[in-house]
Amino acid sequence: MDVNVGISGIPLSAKGSDTGSGLRVLKKLGLDLMEIQFSRNIYLNSDSARTVGNIAKELGIGLTCHASYYINLASQKKEVQDASVKRIVDTLIVAETLRAKLIVVHAGYYSGRSHEDAYDIIKSNIDVIGTKCPSKVKIGIETMGRQKSFGTVDEVIRLCNDCPNVYPVIDFGHIHARNFGNINTVCDFTSIFEKFENETGINRFHIHMSCMRHANGNEISHLPLDSFDPDFRLMAKSINDNGYKCSVVCESPRLEQDALLFRSWLKS
Ligand SMILES: [Zn+2]
Repeated sequence: MDVNVGISGIPLSAKGSDTGSGLRVLKKLGLDLMEIQFSRNIYLNSDSARTVGNIAKELGIGLTCHASYYINLASQKKEVQDASVKRIVDTLIVAETLRAKLIVVHAGYYSGRSHEDAYDIIKSNIDVIGTKCPSKVKIGIETMGRQKSFGTVDEVIRLCNDCPNVYPVIDFGHIHARNFGNINTVCDFTSIFEKFENETGINRFHIHMSCMRHANGNEISHLPLDSFDPDFRLMAKSINDNGYKCSVVCESPRLEQDALLFRSWLKS
């Protein structure tokens, strides 16, 4: 099985520690992936990013980053679009120093535009980012959990096919919430994996994992895996049965505890 399992940010059991210490705790726990949280700010300068990247390499822990939450590539305000482009470029630069493979981005909101117009403006801003920062690090566009957010499965797939610097980030809890709780069987997970595989040609999946409190097609909050909504035991079975290569980032409120629980459901 080629499945990496890790968490979003510093482990809860290392709360308050720096990123390097957090990586060491993850290693001790037997996890092998960290998605460094730059969601509020980019808290590493280039020297500390180099150090963290070296520690991760030495421990054999894969790194990805999560870009700012304050991004809206489809804003009605040009200055917000420009600031969003800059935030993504800055995150790509630190990710490159960390030797992270991908940065996760919430692309934005429809912002009163038609879905087609929002698509066009987001795509053109991604092209601007590619010109400003021709990085090897991929821009991971996430499937989003609210009706007003850009990021249906089809939109993410289309953007991946139109932009060579974009990679899909599959957040199953978001897909489930946005589609009124539609992921209920192993087959439901498998059909989403197959859709991404067939329509984008990727052969490794970057996954966000958390159960969701949701209503009316919108996520409300993240829940631990033992709320089984959706049931990630079924995702483990789909991965076990099909041998999918995956990187799974646990974003539940129990972070490492749930990451280890998920790992226990995988075939060794
Ligand atoms: Zn996210």
